Amino acid sequence: MHEMSLAGGVARIIEEQATTHGFSKVLTVRLEIGQLAHVDADALSFCFSAVVKNTVAEGAKLVIERAQGLVWCFGCATQVAIKAWGDACPSCGSFDLKAASGQDMRILDLEVA
Ligand SMILES: [Zn+2]
Repeated sequence: MHEMSLAGGVARIIEEQATTHGFSKVLTVRLEIGQLAHVDADALSFCFSAVVKNTVAEGAKLVIERAQGLVWCFGCATQVAIKAWGDACPSCGSFDLKAASGQDMRILDLEVA
C-alpha cells in the first residue's frame, strides 16, 4: 500500500511549509490527484490522518480533487481523455494508449491558521 508513503510525503511538505511560512495549524489540505494515478483516495485520507498525528496538520481535513486523465492514442495520433486504465480510446476504441497526464498528485493549497 503506497498511500502510506504518499501521505508521508504530503505531511513532510506541509511541515516544510509550516517552517518556511511560520504557521502552526493546518485546517484543510487540498490535493489534486490525476484520475490515472494509482491512488486510492479513501486509503490516502486514512493514512494521512494517521501520519499527521502530533504535527501542525493533525486533524486537518483532506480534500481530494481528481484531475482528468489524458493519454496519447496511437490509433488517433492525438490526446484523448479516459477515466481509468483499462478504458479504450473513446474515439477509435484502441487500447494502444500511452499516459500523457493525470498520473500525478500535488498539493493545490493549504488553509492554515
Ligand atoms: Zn483513438
